[in-house]
Parts: sequence; C-alpha cells; structure tokens
Amino acid sequence: MDLAPKWEGKEMVDYITRYLTTIRERKVTPGPEVKPGYMRELLPDSAPTDPEDWDCIFRDIEKVIMPGVVHWQSPYMHAYYPALTSWPSMLGDMLADAINNIGFTWASSPACTELEMNVMDWLCKALGLPTFFLHHHPDSTGGGILQIVCLSVRPSVCPSICLSVCLSVCLSISPSALCLYQAHSSVEKAGLISLVKIRFLPPDDHFSLRGDTLKEAIQEDRRRGLVPVMLCATLGTTGVCAFDNLSELGPVCAEEGLWLHVDAAYAGSAFLCPELRGPLGGIEYADSFAFNPSKWMMVHFDCTAFWVKDKYKLQQTFSVDPVYLRHENSDQATDFMHWQIPLSRRFRSLKLWFVMRSFGLKNLQGHIRHVCVYVCMYVCLSVCLSLLRRLTRSGTMYLVPADIDRKRIIRFTVTSQLTTSEDIIRDWNIIRKMATDLLAHRSNMF
Ligand SMILES: *Cc1c(COP(=O)(O)O)cnc(C)c1O
Repeated sequence: MDLAPKWEGKEMVDYITRYLTTIRERKVTPGPEVKPGYMRELLPDSAPTDPEDWDCIFRDIEKVIMPGVVHWQSPYMHAYYPALTSWPSMLGDMLADAINNIGFTWASSPACTELEMNVMDWLCKALGLPTFFLHHHPDSTGGGILQIVCLSVRPSVCPSICLSVCLSVCLSISPSALCLYQAHSSVEKAGLISLVKIRFLPPDDHFSLRGDTLKEAIQEDRRRGLVPVMLCATLGTTGVCAFDNLSELGPVCAEEGLWLHVDAAYAGSAFLCPELRGPLGGIEYADSFAFNPSKWMMVHFDCTAFWVKDKYKLQQTFSVDPVYLRHENSDQATDFMHWQIPLSRRFRSLKLWFVMRSFGLKNLQGHIRHVCVYVCMYVCLSVCLSLLRRLTRSGTMYLVPADIDRKRIIRFTVTSQLTTSEDIIRDWNIIRKMATDLLAHRSNMF
C-alpha cells in the first residue's frame, strides 16, 4: 500500500482559494431540491473495497458536497453569527493537522502547551482583560486555555466547567445557579447537565441585566432555601447583541459570594478596540471569561478562549492522575487536561498565533471597525415569517429570526469581512422589495 505523502494537496489549496475568491457567485443557501436525505442517491450504499482515484474523489466535492453547503463565508450570510475564517488561520490548522498532537499534558507535546499559554496571554492583553487572567504575571493565579466551544456541542463547556467548580466548593444540597433571562441556550444546557436549577432574570428596557434585579433574585432564592452559586452575565447576546451591566452585577456577586462567569462569545472580539471596551467596566469582578475568536476574529472554528482567575480551583475540580499521564515535569508544568472536561486536545493555538501575527492587532482592529460600521438592522414586520421564508428560498441571502420583547424580528447580522456597503444596500433593496410585494399581496387578499 502506498502511504507516501501525496502532493494533490496543492490542488486542494488552489480549489480553496478559488472557492473563497468567487464565493459571491454562489447562492448562499442550498436550493429547494436539497431536502433531508438528498445525498443518499449521490453516494453508493457502502464504502469502496478498492481504493478510488483522487481525481474522482476531488470531483465529488462540487457534485455531492457543495450543493448542500451553506456558504458561511459569503458576504450575503446574515444569519446566526459571524464564523469567519482567514488564510493564516487555515494554514495554522494545516500544520496542526499534520503534526496531530494530542496535547493533554505538557510532556505529550511541550510546544502545544507552551504556545497556548503564550498566545492566551497575548490575547488577554490585546482585549484589555485584567492581569489576573495571565499565565505569566507575578501576581496572577489565573490563566487561559483554548476550548472546543464556548458551550453547546460538547455539553456546555465553559459554563459547565464553572458550575462544576462551584459545585465542588459548595457542599449545599440544593444549589441554584442564577443566570440572565437572555443568556444563551447553552447556559441552560449547563444547568441540565449539572442538575442545577437555572433562573432566567428579566432584563431592563435595553435588554441588560441590572444589579438590583440580581440582588432581589438572590434574596428570593435564599428565602426558598436555595443557594445561588453562579451568575452567567452576557456581554453581547446572540439575539440582539445586548450587554449586561457588569459594573453593577460584579459587586453584587462579590458581596453574595457568587461565581461570576462572563460570556462574551459573540461580541468579545470587539474588545480588541479600546474604544469599544465600555461594557468591560466591572470585569475586575469576573471569576472567568469566555469569548470565541472563532466567531468574529477570523480564527476558524473551533477556537474558544476561556480564562479563569483561580486556576487551582479549576484543577482541583478536574484533576485525575493516572500513572501513565504522569511525567517528570508534572510539578512545574501546566497540564491542560486538568483544565477541561475531555482528556485530549488539539494544537489549536497555532491558528491563533498565525492570525495574530499575520494581521497584527492593527488590522484585526480595522476588521472589527469595518463590520461595526454596519450595525445590525432589524426588520420588524407582521409579515416577518413569510418574508423570511421567501428570502431564504431565493438563496440571495441568509437570515434567521429572533424573539425580542414578545415580537418576532428578522435579525440581519453583518458577518463576512467581504461585505461592503454596496452589498448591504443590495440586500436591503431585496428585503424591501420582497416585503412590499408581500404586503401588497396581503392587502389584495383582504
Ligand atoms: C455563539 C454563542 C455561544 C455559543 O458558542 P459555542 O462556542 O458555539 O458553544 C454562547 N454565548 C453567546 C452569547 C453566543 O453568541
């Protein structure tokens, strides 16, 4: 069997370059012919016994895969949240895939742990986060780590980690965690997994959770015999990018002894720009902070940055010590397997390192400012859902709805670094035209 490296890799790189530079020409969502099960008839029932020609496999990308792809990198992608990639990021993962380290301990591949610690410090400083999150700082007992996700797929990683830590220090029988009404679905999942009651607290008129609301909720829970252990505050909710009032919530958490986890998964990249750091007021009270470079920072999925103030609490919670994982530097080295739920971990820091170096903080800030110019627009119409269905079917753009203040809205998020003001005007005109047609059609019916 020929296991020598193949050089068809170059062809794939060319294909990727072509794909990304001509992405505007593709419809952003699959056509109506793509229905559940569409792929069955395009593939044989079982895997081939004999090896297939690479050319044949390669041709199937356009035939089998692309028809069913949502083009997240398209400038017409306005659904969910940005999930951007970039060339240094992809090159970083190419290298990581080739090395294929499983970096659970320092000894399992020292460069993997060391680079991660250093770039997490770079990132912490670049975002203007407190020094107590740094690995390398005389007064710090904290540090940062890259996780697969902020939450979801793997059971709600960051909030679960925080909750597990809380529970391991809290001996009470019926602890309750508190979290924001608007918080992400994954926080709810963390509660389900940890068997902790989650309360959703009502925000103010600007969709922001305030200190008084939290205080009242804590008192009420205590009266009911529950022990509040944690608050998950959101800086940038997924629905409408609202910010909880950290400078009010922080002191309440400190007084009441609650773990304060800050979820900035979506908007955290914005803190690269000093002028956008207003919502970070009160961050000095945070016990942990998470954001996804895999959303807006052009480091492709998966890459979630997670910092804790007290790494010893974390390690106590997740420490396991089988003899085959011990090594002679166990005492001085950081073994990231004690910082997370899974054992194994990829060499994720390479892509982050490549991105930060290739763009420089200056260009990363420029990218954030570019997207911020096109602040989200919301379409609030009674015909919202039929409009959304039409827009999605047309393949001209991809949007998703959200519920806000008991109203159904269409979210329009600028995600791609390729999006220009002409694109926004084009999209807005399509939305307007379709909405007008739909409304005219409706009034004819009555
Ligand atoms: C996207 C998002 C998450 C979930 O992130 P994953 O890393 O995909 O789990 C959590 N919170 C907020 C506010 C988000 O926007």
